Amino acid sequence: MIDLANLQTSLEVAILDHLPDAIVVVGPDGQLILWNLQAQRWLSDYLSCLWEVDPKAQCQVLDHHRCPLPLDQLPLRRVVAGQVIENEDMVLVQRGSDQLLWVAVSGGPVPPGGSAAGILSVRNISTHKHQERQLYHQTYYDALTQLPNRVALIDRLNHLLVQGREPDSMALLFIDLNRFKQVNDDLGHRLGNQLLTELGRRIKDTIPPQAMAARLGSDEFAVVVEHLAGQKEAIDLATDLWHAITQPAVLANHDIRVGASIGIAPGPAAYRHAEDWLRDANTAMHQVKDLADCHWCLFDGSLEAQYSQRLEAETALRRALDNGELQLYYQPIVTISNQAIIGFEALVRWQHPERGLLLPGEFISVAESSGLIIPLSWWVLEEACRQMQAWTETYPNMAHLTVSVNMSSKQFFQKHLVDKVKEILAQTGFDPHRLKLEITESVLIDHSESIIAILQELREMGIRLAVDDFGTGYSSLSYLHQFPFDSLKIDRSFIENADQDFEKLEILQSVVRLAWNLGLDVVAEGVETHRHYAQLRALRCESGQGFLFSQPLPPDSVEQVMRGKVDPDLDPDLDPDFDADLDPDLDPDLEADLGGSPTMA
Ligand code: C2E
Ligand code: MG
Ligand code: MG
Repeated sequence: MIDLANLQTSLEVAILDHLPDAIVVVGPDGQLILWNLQAQRWLSDYLSCLWEVDPKAQCQVLDHHRCPLPLDQLPLRRVVAGQVIENEDMVLVQRGSDQLLWVAVSGGPVPPGGSAAGILSVRNISTHKHQERQLYHQTYYDALTQLPNRVALIDRLNHLLVQGREPDSMALLFIDLNRFKQVNDDLGHRLGNQLLTELGRRIKDTIPPQAMAARLGSDEFAVVVEHLAGQKEAIDLATDLWHAITQPAVLANHDIRVGASIGIAPGPAAYRHAEDWLRDANTAMHQVKDLADCHWCLFDGSLEAQYSQRLEAETALRRALDNGELQLYYQPIVTISNQAIIGFEALVRWQHPERGLLLPGEFISVAESSGLIIPLSWWVLEEACRQMQAWTETYPNMAHLTVSVNMSSKQFFQKHLVDKVKEILAQTGFDPHRLKLEITESVLIDHSESIIAILQELREMGIRLAVDDFGTGYSSLSYLHQFPFDSLKIDRSFIENADQDFEKLEILQSVVRLAWNLGLDVVAEGVETHRHYAQLRALRCESGQGFLFSQPLPPDSVEQVMRGKVDPDLDPDLDPDFDADLDPDLDPDLEADLGGSPTMA
């Protein structure tokens, strides 16, 4: 078959055979005149399709987009027609095989005079293409979930922005899993990874076929969807995604359920950069975290302003922590029967350089959402223990007083909580029996088993535990017996209205009775008036805290009280409306024998 007549020497044949590329020479009708050893080795099955398009053919040539080449674009036809081909990527496929052969094709016409009309050099670049694909995959795909990654998402968003479409015809959904870190901490990274893979699959299965789901990193995913009729469709998709994600997953015999917060940024809007679009979806997602009972939030311009304010507040609070701008105030807790001080609640304040003294209501939520609540809470615990210990050494009459410290739910998702508390007690020398930790009901709802274990360990150390703001959270009395609490702090809203609202009064009454039955003592919060006070006496509530007894005090005022120089104001004459003549059915023995100031118990 080899037309040796066209070759001058056996040296030339040897040279051709040693070339790494397949060389094919054809005549004007595509008839093969010469091919070298490489062509024989790996190209012979494809030779016919380099010249012919035959629907029944066993092979086919595709362009680099993998579209079949029409007849006049087949490489042998082009060189015979006098065209030069310079290193073009093409794909050769065999019928019934999913193996692709990537080739780089060069060639051109042969000078007239012989039987040859064109020459083609074909290089097998499959290995190179495979590596390129792997590299592409590594660059654009997440190795764990096999979903496109952040780079791929940004690419897609930029592409959509260039196209420019109708407002609200697209949406970017930013999905953040809630408390995923807890799963990792409790069950280990292996199961954590399995859960991420499972949730990635669910997200992909939930979205329309043309939409793209990406994993942005750790527990964050995003979905970009086009061809929407309006925002409602984006919201419906967010709801579907939320349901899909929050279904329990069974992994290694664990029933795992995580929540999700989804921020929606409709597009293409006025975005010029993909990063801005992503930032807005992220802002909306953070908004969800601040709202109770919400799973999604739609971005609107006002969120942007809120977001930058929040960032500023966060920076300022971080600075406050570093510069020692936080302080503790101490509010006495007294025995109702004789107003003797039995302890204090430590309440954080921020001495802001420009805005003056700030109450927790102005910065705790920023601390919570930024995670700064963790260092803040540990600082509070350490400072309260240190201060109490220092006072005890100076004022021996304080030796039996307790200090109550508020715990954030976020602390319970930290590893080594118990060790950290132990460390602080050891460092400050404060007696654990004099420490009370206040926990809100919200902590008890999730992950109750791990919470119970932590609470039990704290209790075994001698620390006392109180449910704070009782009645404002889930108010389920039934769960209380499962947790090792010592006291209930009844939220001030119950005390506030009990004198006007009979229903509230009844609730208050039954809460006190229930607490007794459970062996818990009751602290009433927000005792502001003599009427409140009389009511609590009537209910036989043991202790109380409120402005009637004392405002929260800065440390030097506590010292003055301890030295007996100042009496926190409790004077029945202060309240002209005071009328201890409560409903006699409540407590026939009720006596409004108020008087004096809180004293040392
Ligand atoms: P809380 O733990 O329920 O603290 C009691 C709050 O009620 C304090 O508000 C106290 O000043 C206020 N209060 C006490 N008696 C009365 C009264 O008779 N009437 C009225 N209207 N209010 C009274 P504060 O200091 O503004 O603290 C508010 C909340 O901030 C606290 O509620 C607590 O949830 C949180 N907080 C305060 N300090 C810390 C802290 O160190 N860590 C954490 N995580 N949260 C803290
Ligand atoms: Mg409290
Ligand atoms: Mg409270």
